[in-house]
Amino acid sequence: MERRDVARYPFTEVARRYLKELKISPKEIAGDVLYAGVRRRGLDRVIAAVKGERIKRPSLRGEEEVIRELLSFVYGRMLVSAFAEPYLIQWHSHTESELVERYMWEDSRDGRWDVVMEVAGELGLKLKDGPSEELLIHFADYLRLSSGLSGKEWRLANRALNGGWVRVRREELLRLLKEGVKEHYRSTLPIALPTSILEEMEDDLKVVKELAEERRAKYKARPVGKVEIECFPPCMKRILAMLQGGENPPHHARFAITTFLHALGMGEEEIIRAFSSTPDFDENMARYQVRHILGITSGTEYSTPECATMISYNICYDPDDLCKRDWMRHPLTYYRVKCKKGSKSSEASP
Ligand code: SF4
Repeated sequence: MERRDVARYPFTEVARRYLKELKISPKEIAGDVLYAGVRRRGLDRVIAAVKGERIKRPSLRGEEEVIRELLSFVYGRMLVSAFAEPYLIQWHSHTESELVERYMWEDSRDGRWDVVMEVAGELGLKLKDGPSEELLIHFADYLRLSSGLSGKEWRLANRALNGGWVRVRREELLRLLKEGVKEHYRSTLPIALPTSILEEMEDDLKVVKELAEERRAKYKARPVGKVEIECFPPCMKRILAMLQGGENPPHHARFAITTFLHALGMGEEEIIRAFSSTPDFDENMARYQVRHILGITSGTEYSTPECATMISYNICYDPDDLCKRDWMRHPLTYYRVKCKKGSKSSEASP
């Protein structure tokens, strides 16, 4: 890796070592006049995440700019940590991993594939060379990293699998690595910060808070009509909570909640609003997918998957006593029974 790579891949061991050598404390980053530029850039990175925009790339010419960029990444993590809100961590992880993905594409294009492989190694991925230009990724890593990706091509059933290894093209590996970086960021936040540092960051925190509240207010998912959230089966409650908390539910989970909400009478707009807190929310894409599932553009109105299908997709989250009744076969049955019988529903039958 070159010196500038510590700023491009700030989660790597080499970047952590470099940061240590700099001997600049979080308190200095948060308050010292020397690091005003670092704080501005760090705040811009978080603002981009909150607004769902891309982080602007710096030129990274010279050591000073490399240091500023690396420290701004640290400051961004400090800002996000101050709130310790899952949705903010999701937005941040999504935007920062998207920046890393752009760097990886650039390195791949410029013949620096060894750097991409180093990134994969940092993420603990097991990889082997495959036929032609393809690579082999261990199926456990593949499943973990592809679970949040939409599209039939990511389903394991549609992949060449041999002895526990899955074949992927280079560009597909970059997409999976982005998910790995996102997962890494998500799992390493929030970091604990003392009050003295939080006080130094007060003005910047106010800016982030206002913008985050604006985004959440704009897209807050609201139950409509006679939909009773309390009667939702645990799987749908969990998927809805993921959406509202800014997480990216797996593709099948999005499909299931869309059909479920539609079956309960929610329309296109309300469903899109429910999706709008996800870190990679793209209104046009969400509208396209929802309209397809609702049958507006496809001509096929898809129904909510049965429990057996939900189980096979690993999205039968937190089944409770009612779920365990012999006759429970469908999330809509759960809703109907629970709503009809109220708190005594676990004793009920359809
Ligand atoms: S058993 Fe059915 S209703 Fe219950 S959580 Fe699983 S999929 Fe949902």
